[in-house]
Amino acid sequence: MTLKLRCKDYGFECEYILEGEKTLEMIEKFRNHFEEEHGIDYTIEAVIQMITNRGHSLESIKK
Ligand SMILES: [Zn+2]
Repeated sequence: MTLKLRCKDYGFECEYILEGEKTLEMIEKFRNHFEEEHGIDYTIEAVIQMITNRGHSLESIKK
């Protein structure tokens, strides 16, 4: 299962797109982008919640 995450879908003026295998590692990469580029230190749980809220099922990677 692949997942495509667009930073602008999460409220930023940003063209960053992350696409790949739906893994926790990918979610962490997206989380790190928020921190490094936008200075927002979300928890991994918060990012999972945000992605889930956009209609993506993350059942398979939940701890
Ligand atoms: Zn961004």
